[in-house]
Amino acid sequence: MRIVFFSTQAYDRESFLEHDKPNDAEFVFQQPKLTLETAVLAAGAEVVCAFINDDLSAPVLEQLAANGTRLIALRSAGYNHIDLEAATRLGLAVARVPSYSPHAIAEHTVALILALNRHLTRAYNRTREGDFSLRGLTGFDLVNKTVGIIGTGQIGAAFAKIMAGFGCKLLAYDPYPNPKVVKLGAQYLELDELFGQAQIVSLHCPLSPSTYHLINASTLGRMQSGSMLINTSRGALVDTPAVIEALKSGHLGYLGLDVYEEEADLFFEDLSDFPLQDDVLARLLTFPNVIITAHQAFLTREALNAIASTTLANISAWAEGSPQNLVNIEG
Ligand code: NAD
Repeated sequence: MRIVFFSTQAYDRESFLEHDKPNDAEFVFQQPKLTLETAVLAAGAEVVCAFINDDLSAPVLEQLAANGTRLIALRSAGYNHIDLEAATRLGLAVARVPSYSPHAIAEHTVALILALNRHLTRAYNRTREGDFSLRGLTGFDLVNKTVGIIGTGQIGAAFAKIMAGFGCKLLAYDPYPNPKVVKLGAQYLELDELFGQAQIVSLHCPLSPSTYHLINASTLGRMQSGSMLINTSRGALVDTPAVIEALKSGHLGYLGLDVYEEEADLFFEDLSDFPLQDDVLARLLTFPNVIITAHQAFLTREALNAIASTTLANISAWAEGSPQNLVNIEG
């Protein structure tokens, strides 16, 4: 069984090679992203292993299916980037890694909050230049602040637990309230009420038609002046030009992003030798109260290990006729 991995970095190869291969499996690691042009690299591969910025639209899936692929093994929890209807029509099973380390993403979310609040990037740059002044570095205590969590599944719940530890008041919105989060003292509210009361809003819901641009000019207007917005979930939850306007007016006090709607052609690549072509991202990067990381919240040793082990278990289970973690074709 030939397994072609797309969008691989050195850390992917290392983590997969540390695990036993499924029976008769041959690993082929490809660095390029999966696109209509690169799909040919998977010719003859029964299994294609893809990541979040790979193109899994109908035309790409059609080419993979025509060339013999039968399983798309996602190395991610999110599957908003695959055309599931097309995959099912083409007889392609799609498996994912439902949970690898919710703590990795929750902890990165907290890292963004603390770095923004305590101006760590500015402080780091200053001290390296011999500037030991504190002007403009005033932060705020997290204790007693109100944190609004949108989406309280595995990651939202792990984040809630950490913020409860800081002594924050927790507000939550989720169509399916999580008893573990209620137990931490969180109060579930309607979205509008959450936006009105929270000083920090953190997004942990999946991207779907109902959550697309959940943060827009109207919802930003309902947030408290000077509040902080963190998105470690999916870029398209946020209407970026609307956020830029809110930052320019000062209404939005801080922004931490690990994801960006147009990240697919940027993130995971070293583009430092080239002029940045994305004017919206370029504008975002000019604000002193904005921190952007390039979709690295998942990047811990523990998470990489769990991604490799579950992906390989998904492939073995599928090959043995008892698939697991499928998101389209049942059993
Ligand atoms: P999960 O399925 O455990 O939880 C998602 C929660 O969102 C569920 O409780 C669900 O009821 C809720 N939800 C659904 N629709 C909602 C809506 N309209 N409003 C509010 N809540 C809604 O998923 P998870 O493992 O906690 O992951 C959450 C998201 O984090 C994923 O969808 C993915 O986009 C993102 N993620 C990001 C990274 C990263 O590296 N930055 C890594 C993994 C996952």
